[in-house]
Amino acid sequence: MTDKELKQIGKKDSRGREIAGVLLPLPLKGPYDYALPKGVEAVRGLIVVASLGSREMLGVVWCPPEGTVGDNRLKEVEELEEAVLLPAGLCDFVDWVASYTLNPPGSILAMALRTASAFDPETPRLAFVKGDTVPPRMTEARARVLEVAGDGLARSVSSFAQEANVTPAVVRGLIASGALVETELPEYRALDIPDPDCVAVTLSDEQRAAADSMIADVREGKFATSLLDGITGSGKTETYFEAVAEALRQDKQVLIMLPEIALTIQFMERFAERFGCRPAEWHSDLSQKERRRVWRSVANGTARVVVGARSSLFLPFSDLGLIIVDEEHEQAYKQEDGAIYHARDMAVVRANIEKCPIILSSATPSLESFVNASTGRYKWLKLSRRHGVAELPEIRLVDLRDSRVEAGTWLSEPLREALRNGFASGEQAMLFLNRRGYAPLTLCGSCGHKLTCPNCTAWLVEHRYRRRLACHHCGFESTLPPECPQCHEVGSFVACGPGVERVAEEAASVFPEARIAIASSDILHGPEETQAAIRAMAKNEVDLLIGTQIIAKGHHFPQLTLVGIIDADLGGSDGDVRARERTFQLLNQVSGRAGRAEKPGLVLMQTRNPKDPVMTALVNVDRDSFYEQERQYRERASAPPFGRLAAIILSGGDGEAVRETGKALARAAPNAKGVKVWGPTPAFYSLLRGQTRERLLVQAERSVDVQAYLRAWLAGVKIPGSVRLTVDVDPVSFF
Ligand code: ADP
Ligand code: ZN
Repeated sequence: MTDKELKQIGKKDSRGREIAGVLLPLPLKGPYDYALPKGVEAVRGLIVVASLGSREMLGVVWCPPEGTVGDNRLKEVEELEEAVLLPAGLCDFVDWVASYTLNPPGSILAMALRTASAFDPETPRLAFVKGDTVPPRMTEARARVLEVAGDGLARSVSSFAQEANVTPAVVRGLIASGALVETELPEYRALDIPDPDCVAVTLSDEQRAAADSMIADVREGKFATSLLDGITGSGKTETYFEAVAEALRQDKQVLIMLPEIALTIQFMERFAERFGCRPAEWHSDLSQKERRRVWRSVANGTARVVVGARSSLFLPFSDLGLIIVDEEHEQAYKQEDGAIYHARDMAVVRANIEKCPIILSSATPSLESFVNASTGRYKWLKLSRRHGVAELPEIRLVDLRDSRVEAGTWLSEPLREALRNGFASGEQAMLFLNRRGYAPLTLCGSCGHKLTCPNCTAWLVEHRYRRRLACHHCGFESTLPPECPQCHEVGSFVACGPGVERVAEEAASVFPEARIAIASSDILHGPEETQAAIRAMAKNEVDLLIGTQIIAKGHHFPQLTLVGIIDADLGGSDGDVRARERTFQLLNQVSGRAGRAEKPGLVLMQTRNPKDPVMTALVNVDRDSFYEQERQYRERASAPPFGRLAAIILSGGDGEAVRETGKALARAAPNAKGVKVWGPTPAFYSLLRGQTRERLLVQAERSVDVQAYLRAWLAGVKIPGSVRLTVDVDPVSFF
């Protein structure tokens, strides 16, 4: 950053100190005025230590002071030992996100400052190099160490010992005699720099055309949005890697966003194959030390490519040249707790601020991106064929109304037959059901009492594998009670409906020879275990993989030819404008796992609604007419992206107070042209983690400034301390 770019914002006080607004990472209204130590200039982005009450915390010099506090009452901040500056682009981004999502700016800043230890001064590592002194006594072991040291590289005691195959005592002896001398290394080994030309890839014509367009954008270095829209297996990753390579050649930084950590492990390996080393990685599973290393490397520009989840958007990139949002339609990009924001949408904002291109990649784009691409706001780059000989799988529906299955079983005869044939020819199969556990509902067969969570409006899900009943919302767990709590009948509980464990039980009884594995987030603990399961599948150690959406994404199993979808109607019509779109995306993604190599794939979808537009579109491989239908439907309903939505969620332990506040809010809603306010109504989960929840929904025409409306509205209502109010702009979940 040049001096010119450093924005000076302070005002001098009577003692000659600079005064500035300092933003603290707390949900306060805005920055507070502080004095800076004498001689320190107020530069936007400068990280300082500020005290508030009795607490000390990091804060950031943010804006000109308000000037309402007298000079002698102003508190003075402290400097960090080493000055660290948040890049101006990141500061602007924090302001933008705060204002769009109606969160206090400090709450957004907190996401950028989460790695508090990143700001401590570096502690150098101790290392040793060959000195000028020759040791008085030379032994064979000592000679070996000195030979290793001959290359002049600095090493720790243990690496000398290891490389020369001697005990550490030998190395220490050499240090004592002055034959090895101390030197300092930076605390962290520098990150490897990916090599854009490590592997030359030959692209197909349509891949080439898409890559060229993205490369041109990177060269131009302007804000531009592209939708990379290619069927599963068409080489989207391979193609956008070419744009990454170009950004690297331009000495720019790149951010690649993935929706889930589970996907990063495989991705890192793939990246390393193409670029010769792994990129930097950023997500919640990193150790403090690793976070600190990556944060600093991003800030000083030595981290060239970062692969990360949502929170990577708040990293201090100094010279961003490209952002990629992979699987851009994924709902996981929406952060639902704490500060609510949509990472895909905010990534577009960050690209705009950083003046760099952004690529949204998907086989099933969000309808929003589809509309933006079809109206020309986004460049529309299409990949219509799978790479190599692979073809898209054939999709067939199994109408459950004709192919009846016995009560308590879930595999129809056509599905069983396909599995039988597949196993007979040594091929792999996958069964998909988006329900964890054994059964979604347990009820008493004698009185009908349903086992529900004491804290949530939700059923308890039986997990037979762990012998527990669990609430998937609050984590409440219990064992199956010995008798029905209502009628006291013993042993009367009946499992209703299927979960993956129950389907696995049935599959094992039908195919006792098959090697069966279950993949769901409660059985696989953490990304490593998930990855191990995925590797086992890829290595053909499993014949049948039964899983939830954890197996739907991104994975490449060459021997997998059959995909069975246990219940294609799940998630169908829950009154949510995006329900159909989401079902289509999920089913398409699961189907895309079949037949990715030479052998053709088959997908069997069990359904009771074969005429449903989602099913028809999948069977006919006609995505675009489905999207067109959805577009028209949304346009008629003034639903996003043709209208705006914002939700207000009230919650609290005192149900009466929550409901009263809801009513008071509704009464206070200003009348405005093109704005409708619905509610309050009890939320779908009207009780969640012991909190009563009410919702209001604002529906506005596209031209309305929803944020301004909400601000005006909320400013006029006093929310009691016992009630929590959350604003969700552009909600994607309506629970
Ligand atoms: P997508 O991201 O669209 O699902 P991928 O980029 O994962 O597709 O590509 C699918 C498979 O095809 C991968 O194994 C990938 O390495 C391979 N592939 C795609 N394009 C090429 C190419 N031009 N040259 C070599 N392999 C390719
Ligand atoms: Zn619960």
